[in-house]
Order: sequence, then structure tokens, then C-alpha cells
Amino acid sequence: MDEVTKVFTQIPEFLEYLGPECAAAIANAAPNDELDLSPKFPFLCSRRYADLIKKAAEPEALLREILPTRDELASVPGFVDDPVGDLPAGKADCVIQKYDRRALIVSTATCGARCRFCFRKNYPFQNIPDVARQVSDWLDTHSDIWEVILSGGDPLMLGPGEFRDLVEAIAMHSSVTTLRIHTRLPVMRPDVVMQHFELLRELPARFECVLVSHVDHPDELDEQSQMVFGQLRFSGWTLLNQSVLLKGVNNNAGTLEKLSRRLFEQGVLPYYLHQLDHANGVAHFEVSDETAKELIKEIRTRLPGYLVPKLVREIAGEKSKTPIL
Ligand code: SF4
Repeated sequence: MDEVTKVFTQIPEFLEYLGPECAAAIANAAPNDELDLSPKFPFLCSRRYADLIKKAAEPEALLREILPTRDELASVPGFVDDPVGDLPAGKADCVIQKYDRRALIVSTATCGARCRFCFRKNYPFQNIPDVARQVSDWLDTHSDIWEVILSGGDPLMLGPGEFRDLVEAIAMHSSVTTLRIHTRLPVMRPDVVMQHFELLRELPARFECVLVSHVDHPDELDEQSQMVFGQLRFSGWTLLNQSVLLKGVNNNAGTLEKLSRRLFEQGVLPYYLHQLDHANGVAHFEVSDETAKELIKEIRTRLPGYLVPKLVREIAGEKSKTPIL
């Protein structure tokens, strides 16, 4: 493991770190003959996430999100390299615009871990140049944009200097009133979120600030995520969460109910439950629309309305997310 960045890039080392107490969960999530030790979409997992797996009530659920299996090699009709139409919506190398007067920035290729179901696992990230300059140039000629969404990869994986440069470049454009960050780092690398904290604390004085976390399972939330969310909330950020509905991870009402309640305890409202984006190599995570609708109907009977996420699908070329129920 790289001691500086605290990530595992080698599966045997990661499994050794998890130790014998996780052996049964590993065998359930990825039996030996199904594990892919040299996957096309490379393995990456933070030590922090490994520690969450070790203390999880359902460790195999978290392992399925992170461990590559041979299922990823299956070629399934309808599963493609660009499932959400990022490339046709590209306006500059790192700017994507799908929706009216809002723009999304692919800030970096880097993440705190690589989710096996990632919708951008085949995205041509090598094209990303000097992001701050390019975003600033693009906004110069698009004064109708009022919301900028920082996505990736994970935008908070930018170094503190690069992240500040990017945000300051956006702040120079007075039309932009809302800054949204999509991140999985409160779960994967809370230590890295804290490295940006001085700037994150300042931003609500300039923008309406929204942080949309990506949490799929209640065992991904603990006292460290709570500390990150608490500090952001105290600084004036609106906190929402989006999850992906994933077979073998969160496709039961009990897990979804617990996820919503635990998010709320940490000051975060459930926002979207996404049906799986059909990227190549992720078909084994698919949950049918019928099952998804039944799950939402069930959790509606268990939770107040504000804790029931909207069940949606992203359809390439559509002008908004498509509600399923
Ligand atoms: S954090 Fe997001 S962008 Fe990164 S691998 Fe996971 S789903 Fe993909």
C-alpha cells in the first residue's frame, strides 16, 4: 500500500489487509474463481474504505462495490461505453452540458476508490487539460449558466491548489450563483475532504453551495463521515445524497430504509436513487424496474416522504433525469 496516499492498488495486498475475519464475506462477494486480479478498469480502494468493510454489519455488500469479478467481462446487449451520453454533450474537453443553463465539469480522473459499477469507467479522461483555465474560458462565453456542477472522477481529489484555482475561476463569473459538488469522498477519503476545509468553509459566502454525496449502503456511514457532513452543514452547505440501486449491495427495503435514516442522522437528505447506468461490464448489478418500484413502494410505508429518494434513470439525450415511479 502507498503510505502517502493510503490506497490499495493490488488486490492480494488489500485482501491480506482485510484479514481472516473477512474471509467468509470475500468468498460470498467474489469467490476465488470469479475474482479478476487484473481487471480492465483497474482496482483501487482506500484504506479507509477497507476499514469500513472490516467493521461493516454486511461486509460483502461493500466488497461487491469494490472487488473486480469476471462478471465484468460479459458483453451484454444494451450496455455501452458511454451510457449517459457524456460525449455528445461535451462542450469543451472537461465541460458537459446536458441541461438548461447548468454545466458539469469533469474535474479530474481520480477517485478515492474505483466503484465496479461506475458509469464513467470507460470515459476518455486522458483528454482533461488545464481544467481551471478551460472552464473559465468556456464560462466567458456562456453567461446564461447559473449552476456549475463539479464532478469527475471525484473533484475533491484535486490537489488543494488546483481545487482553489478551479473554484476561483468559476467565482469570477457573476452569473454562476450555485456551486454543486458531486463526491464520494466523505465515505472513501474523509481525510482528503478535510484538506480542503478552509476553502469549503469560505464558499457559502460566494455561492449557494450544494454537496451531493454518493453513499450506497448504511455501513458506509460512520463517525468520520458524520464529522465531515457536520462541518459542511455548519458552514452553510446544503447536503443531499444520491445512491445507485445495486444487486447484492442495497436491493432490499431494510437496507434502503436504514440508509435513509442514517443519512438523515448525519444531516443529509436522500435525493436520488438511480437505476443502474448501462456501462459495459456492470450488468451483474442490474435490478429490474419492477423490483425497484416495489422497493420504493415498501420504503414509502416505512419512512416520512422527505426520506424517500426519487427513483430515476438517466437517459442519454434527455433534458432531465427520468422518474421511474
Ligand atoms: S466515485 Fe464516482 S466516478 Fe469514481 S469510480 Fe465511483 S462512481 Fe465512478
